[in-house]
Amino acid sequence: MAKWVYKFGAGSAEGRADMRELLGGKGASLHEMSWLGLPVPPGFTITTDVCTHFYGHENSYPSGLKAQVENAMKRVETLVGMTFGDPSNPLLVSVRSGARASMPGMMDTVLNLGLNDVTVEGLARRTKDARFAYDSYRRFIEMYSDVVLGLDRDAFAEILSEHKSAKGYEADTDMKADDWRAIVARYKDEVLAQSGTPFPDSPPEQLWGAIGAVFQSWMNQRAITYRRLHDIPESWGTAVNVQAMVFGNMGEDCATGVAFTRDPSTGENVFYGEYLVNAQGEDVVAGIRTPQHLTAAARDAAKADRASMEEVMPDLYRQLCDIRASLESHYRDVQDMEFTVQQGKLWMLQTRSGKRTARAAVKIAVDLVREGVITETEALMRVDPAALDQLLHPTIDPKAPRTVLAKGLPASPGAAVGAIVFSADEAEARASGGQDVILVRVETSPEDIHGMHAARGILTTRGGMTSHAAVVARGMGRPCVAGAGDIRVDYAAGTLTVNGETLRAGEVITLDGATGEVMKGSMPTIPADTTSGDFGTLMEWADKTRTLAVRANADTPSDAEVARGFGAEGIGLCRTEHMFFEPDRIVAVRRMIMAKDEAARRAALDELLPMQRSDFVGIFKAMSGLPVTIRLLDPPLHEFLPHSDGEITEVALAAGLTEDEVRRRAADMHESNPMLGHRGCRLGITCPEIYEMQARAIFEAAAEVARSRILVMPEVMLPLIATRSEFDVLKTLIDRVAASVKEETGMKISYRVGTMIELPRAALQAGSIAESADFFSFGTNDLTQTTFGLSRDDASHFLETYRKRHIIESDPFATLDREGVGELIKIAATRGRKTRKNLKLGICGEHGGDPASIMFVAEIGLDYVSCSPYRVPVARLAAAQAEIAMGSAKDSRTEMVA
Ligand code: ADP
Ligand code: MG
Ligand code: MG
Repeated sequence: MAKWVYKFGAGSAEGRADMRELLGGKGASLHEMSWLGLPVPPGFTITTDVCTHFYGHENSYPSGLKAQVENAMKRVETLVGMTFGDPSNPLLVSVRSGARASMPGMMDTVLNLGLNDVTVEGLARRTKDARFAYDSYRRFIEMYSDVVLGLDRDAFAEILSEHKSAKGYEADTDMKADDWRAIVARYKDEVLAQSGTPFPDSPPEQLWGAIGAVFQSWMNQRAITYRRLHDIPESWGTAVNVQAMVFGNMGEDCATGVAFTRDPSTGENVFYGEYLVNAQGEDVVAGIRTPQHLTAAARDAAKADRASMEEVMPDLYRQLCDIRASLESHYRDVQDMEFTVQQGKLWMLQTRSGKRTARAAVKIAVDLVREGVITETEALMRVDPAALDQLLHPTIDPKAPRTVLAKGLPASPGAAVGAIVFSADEAEARASGGQDVILVRVETSPEDIHGMHAARGILTTRGGMTSHAAVVARGMGRPCVAGAGDIRVDYAAGTLTVNGETLRAGEVITLDGATGEVMKGSMPTIPADTTSGDFGTLMEWADKTRTLAVRANADTPSDAEVARGFGAEGIGLCRTEHMFFEPDRIVAVRRMIMAKDEAARRAALDELLPMQRSDFVGIFKAMSGLPVTIRLLDPPLHEFLPHSDGEITEVALAAGLTEDEVRRRAADMHESNPMLGHRGCRLGITCPEIYEMQARAIFEAAAEVARSRILVMPEVMLPLIATRSEFDVLKTLIDRVAASVKEETGMKISYRVGTMIELPRAALQAGSIAESADFFSFGTNDLTQTTFGLSRDDASHFLETYRKRHIIESDPFATLDREGVGELIKIAATRGRKTRKNLKLGICGEHGGDPASIMFVAEIGLDYVSCSPYRVPVARLAAAQAEIAMGSAKDSRTEMVA
């Protein structure tokens, strides 16, 4: 008989931590904590195999499940001395979902299950607390109606607030037992009215309803969105945990809370958390009441007036500290724990690897190595390369004067500037139109995830550091200010009001996620300093681990300096056309394009030459001693054409043409498919003067810089090569220019000439092209376009449909398509190297900064990736991780650092 149910609690467990796949993350942690002898309310886990069976068999359960559940429930009943559904001494349970990967808030938990009109009386008698019993009962009906029956939750909130205002009550704490009893009756009427069926009275029916709802929720829209954003496969399924209830809401000697073994925001090794006296778990997370601090030190630092747990319950606090130490050393990582105190006894309800900011992730990884807990290699694997973006984000210039509108909690670091929007849909709509927005909500819920993703930053007026908004924003790397209680949001009017000042949707604000401050208008920001401290240490470890080099795509001397600061080991792509768009050059460029004959074109090019040369001088100096790959002019010339009447007049004057001639010439240059038109090396072949000028600028700049004893390593790159003969024609031209510059300056510069591989034909002919080319750089943006026959400027909307329907799994312009584009790269690399053993191979394009694509590049053994300057640290870490994963790391040391 297959085993569908695993029991835990009372110092033993049938599962262990390494059974996440079967038991889900939450389940595995409950089993592990039980096994460790920590106080865990007993319960059992229904495995993810049941979820798989459920979806494979028209939403039905495997045979044997029912008996196993009943058997496991018996064990719980024996352990706690209560019986499920018993009229005088009823056992209540929670039904909790738990997928393999933690999906906070995605799946729904039902608490206090097992209550009905009879058992509630039993609970009231046994606890001598009718108020508590009926409060639990109404919470259960509310949750069950929402999660299991799918009814409108607001209707219940309205009934409650109606009752309170009729009685003149301010808060829920004013409600007496009879008030809750009346609420329960009205809730049940509401269920009948909304659903047409009475609320289920039978505890077993309630239990199976809740179990079914957990499995159903695996396929709800929120869960699907979360999985899509986090690349979690649908096939994993969720487990269901059924567990005896413990109550944090039975009086002043009860509490519930959340704690991190280290500060999840800074990574500091201090105990960190929040708790609420006389409350049930949901209250902390939902941000309904603002929680109190765990430690006295944190309370002092925040100057909060309400006492910390350390002060109110010192013994339990000490017990929790012991558990903190044992869980962290057991799991060898920071833990995020949920606990509840029932009448002076501490219970553990969950532990999991704590979500943390990038800053904290780096500090914690480095600290754990120093403490001898993990190895350098493990530390490298602990930090998500993509999350480093957070560290590299700009912060607000400290010198700028701040006029603070309001202050909330510093929930997720980084500065964000954007226009106010009040709904997730609006955030998504405006962001896709290119606008920077700040999502402002009273509080957020899983329905808002798409909007949080689209926003630059998130501001809430309610909730703590572990509220939904705070946790999700940290995970996404969005700056977030949470619980800014002075701000009043009016969704209907589309305004927020603070201290008498009103701002409307669309007005710009700035958030400082590190201080919790909210400022009006757009504040100046400065780039992050990533060259020192723990970040530097981790990067050093990455550098000594990886063999894949990391270069940057940089077009200007200042970009080159930024890239070098981030650790770039050269420039993999310098796009010369960007220099042409500078306002003082564009007229000369246009004159060159408009020229009637070669002589006129040369005159215009002569004017451009010194400008290009000075750019290259700057770049060579910034990258002294490192290779610089310069791509000759690539885009179709008509991209530079004048548009407005003013521009046309200006060009006509400069070129000695009439305005009509300029217009006619522009019309002549129109192409119906410019992406495949007169561009790249084709320009160099038809107008050799252009490439001659560029080559001359490169070599003259190199000679000038070399004269001041700086090592220059120019690499001239030809774009859009399809045939070897194109390459040979242009290589001859470049060599000729190099020779004459050498003659003129007396400086001998060594250089290489290579090509972009961005057309399938070039990839296939790589063996032949490598006879002439010194290097290949795979231009993966264009290679993806030309391999798929897909224009990246037009593809975004239908690619989204493709992704939703699983026709493709990810956007091939973001993550390299291994099977198609990747195959061409492999073919080209193999054929190229067969001809020329020391052929240098790299990729440039968006993929150079994408960790999954970097993994591929490392696997097939290219020499380098090149990416935008801010992605360089991401690529350095991703390259190290790729090589650790492949077991080919330069220095895969496993010994501990003492
Ligand atoms: P989530 O994944 O959203 O954290 P959980 O299953 O952990 O969902 O539960 C939600 C809240 O209910 C948490 O605060 C948790 O501690 C609390 N809770 C869950 N099970 C129990 C239980 N058996 N007794 C008391 N509180 C519980
Ligand atoms: Mg939880
Ligand atoms: Mg290209």
